[in-house]
Amino acid sequence: MKKLNVLGEKVSVKLIEPPDKKAAAQWIQENSEIKIGPEEVEKYYLLIHELTHSWLDRIGTYHTTIDANFIEMICHNNALVMSENAVTLWQMFRKLK
Ligand SMILES: [Zn+2]
Repeated sequence: MKKLNVLGEKVSVKLIEPPDKKAAAQWIQENSEIKIGPEEVEKYYLLIHELTHSWLDRIGTYHTTIDANFIEMICHNNALVMSENAVTLWQMFRKLK
């Protein structure tokens, strides 16, 4: 299985039910892994959302007083932009000379 490099930390991604039964996906800091529910439709959005949690964690965001709702807003909107434009971004990048 390939792992993602998140600011020097190897992060694995698994299609398996997350420990939090209410969550569609979950970043598990202790194991450096992202778990995404196998039946979820928006897997790419969920991957980017949890990946955003992982790098926010990596830069120490959770040791600050930044509000958890604000962190969720960043993760949600980053995942929304990156997933809704994923194909266009890649196509645009490929055309850059
Ligand atoms: Zn989240």
